[in-house]
Amino acid sequence: MANLGIPRNTIEILQKYQFNFQKRYGQNFLIDTGVLDRIISAAQITRDDCVLEIGPGIGTMTQCLAEHARQVVAVEIDKNLILILEDTLSAYDNVTIINEDILKVDIKKIVEERNGGRPIKVVANLPYYITTPIIMGLFENRVPLESITVMVQKEVAERMQMGPGTKDYGALSLAVQYYAKPEIVANVPPNCFIPRPNVGSAVIRLTCYKEPPVQVADEKKMFALIRASFNQRRKTLVNSIGNARELGISKERAAAALEKMQLPATVRGEALTLEQFAELSGLV
Ligand code: SAM
Repeated sequence: MANLGIPRNTIEILQKYQFNFQKRYGQNFLIDTGVLDRIISAAQITRDDCVLEIGPGIGTMTQCLAEHARQVVAVEIDKNLILILEDTLSAYDNVTIINEDILKVDIKKIVEERNGGRPIKVVANLPYYITTPIIMGLFENRVPLESITVMVQKEVAERMQMGPGTKDYGALSLAVQYYAKPEIVANVPPNCFIPRPNVGSAVIRLTCYKEPPVQVADEKKMFALIRASFNQRRKTLVNSIGNARELGISKERAAAALEKMQLPATVRGEALTLEQFAELSGLV
């Protein structure tokens, strides 16, 4: 099958099947062989790997993954793409297509069945409307993962990488950095896709930790604190925590914990590192 990273080959397939793009599924197909090569090399795919691809589209990246990996499982929600994928991937016997919503798939079961429970690599040009639930779902459901290498909206990639004291630092940065080391590996302009998205894109690699980088007794409590702190970004941490009823922590208790940590009573959540949130969660 012709290389779909070459625009004219993608256009030919789209015309052959009279494919109509579904905006609600975030369909922007990659048409740049250089970007595809960068993604495959950043993901460090080898013949030992079992790869999960989320949203294969017409199979452009799937072809490259099938060339490099032992096995590829691709989950695609749009049933109109399934027939096309059977055509564009017919040369490969190491690809399995699942016609499902990725947010409803039991990915742990796939890892168990396909890779004997050993960590897999996730590679995808993600549908941008569900980037955060997909990534957080992978982490929170404890899917055995080696790395996640994905195309996302540029601003979202930057948020994942940010540290304290910057305006883009927030709950997503902290959650990602608790589970993985994030690195932006490429910036990708809109003209590398058909149709062109109206935002810039970036490829980010999240290399998953075997052990979290900080010790925390109660993860759920730490993330609840983080969420509360960034829900009311402009308030002091003491007020954000005290106002979040679901936490059941008084302002006095929060203030005493900050004092123990030698932080000023007026500090905001955006100034705290992951280590400090972990420490705080053990003190309140
Ligand atoms: N991988 C292809 C490429 O790079 O050309 C397509 C990428 S496109 C940005 C996103 C893909 O995800 C589309 O094929 C879309 O139909 C699919 N998709 C959207 N929502 C999905 C969901 N909830 N579960 C699985 N696939 C989904």
